[in-house]
Order: sequence, then structure tokens, then C-alpha cells
Amino acid sequence: MRILIIEDEPQLARHVNVALHRHGHEASVHHDGATGLKAALTTPPDLIILDVNLPSIDGFEVLAKLRAAKSAARVLMLTSRGEVGDRVRGLKAGADDYIPKPFAMEELVARVEALGRRVAAPLPSVALQVADLHMNVQQRRVLRSGEAIALSPREFDLLQILMEEPGRFFARTELYDRVWQREHSYDSRTVEMFITRLRKKIDSEFPVPLIHNLRNVGYTIRPPETEKETS
Ligand code: CA
Repeated sequence: MRILIIEDEPQLARHVNVALHRHGHEASVHHDGATGLKAALTTPPDLIILDVNLPSIDGFEVLAKLRAAKSAARVLMLTSRGEVGDRVRGLKAGADDYIPKPFAMEELVARVEALGRRVAAPLPSVALQVADLHMNVQQRRVLRSGEAIALSPREFDLLQILMEEPGRFFARTELYDRVWQREHSYDSRTVEMFITRLRKKIDSEFPVPLIHNLRNVGYTIRPPETEKETS
């Protein structure tokens, strides 16, 4: 399992790191909330061991931001013993488990591995739909009017972003940041080119187009009944 440890006490972080490596896991340590969160979002781990009291941003805020960003990582929170409030707050905010400090390293490893078994279980399939366009995110399959449409990985990612929020206009720069991340410097033609390719595959063979653009605003996908502006 790939595990991220976000814990500001250097000695404790080191002990946890060593114990996890000894059990065959790949782990890395961050000592404050902001850098830990950034690491979790750039290279998504399977599991995050997250301390509550952290410098910069605390564990609850890290957790809220992870869940808002739709991170699928399992989160095991390190809470203070007796702080029932922390425990409840953590679980409500989307933590998968918690372990009160101080803890025995064997217990931590056992909890981590129990969560790991849940990670390995198949995720329920996520289905997105806009009019007669269907997307199965896990299987990376797209159908329009029951007809399979073959998309490249980047075309798929771009379409998924649009389909997650039908009707919302996305600026080219946002689409570029989310699909291409910081691979090379921004080139607006990249997004334009991919949208053109998507339109060819998704819309050109069908009577009603779903992908629209609004000059100087961006791109959206939406079902025909909510159509107001035209591209
Ligand atoms: Ca701490």
C-alpha cells in the first residue's frame, strides 16, 4: 500500500514510517497540514495517517479539503485519548477510522492493514449521464444512444470533468490545469483541439449537440432541454 503520514512530531512520524516499511508498505512523511495535503492531491496515496493537531492547517481541514477534492484515499486519524469530540468530528468529516494517542505500533499497523483490505475491495461503479450520453468512470466506457464511443485517456478525462457538472461553464485554463496538470506550459490550442475531437466523437453523428462553448467563457456539456445559448 502507498501510505502518506502527516504527523508533526518527528520521532513519532519516524517510528510509524519505519514500522510500515517493515510491514512491506511504501510510506512517506510530511510534518504539516499544507504540504501533506498537497502531496496527497498530487500523488494520491491508498491511505493517509493524519494527525489532528498540525501546523499550518489542522487534520480536520486537511480531511475536508481531501474529501472536497474527491480523494478516494482511506484516512486513519490520530486523535488525542479521551477527546470524544475529535473522534466524532473526524468520522463525520469522512475519516475511515481513528486511533487515539498514545498507541501501540502493532495496533496502528493492524488498523492500517484492515483499512487496506477495504481499499482492495472493488469500488461501486460511478455512472455519469447527460441526456443519452452515459459514462462509466471505473470501466472508462462511454456510450451515446447505446453506441460505444472510443476515447483517448485525455479525451475521457476532459469529458468526465464536463459531465460531473452539467451546465457549468469551464474556462479553458481550468480544463487545461485539471487534465494536463503542470506537464507543459499552458497552450489554449490544446484544450480547443481536444474539445474539437470530443465534439466529433460525441456530437457530430447525433442530431442534438451536447457540448457547447460560450465565447470568452468556456465550455459546458448539458442536456438539450436546458439549452439557452448556442455555440
Ligand atoms: Ca500533532
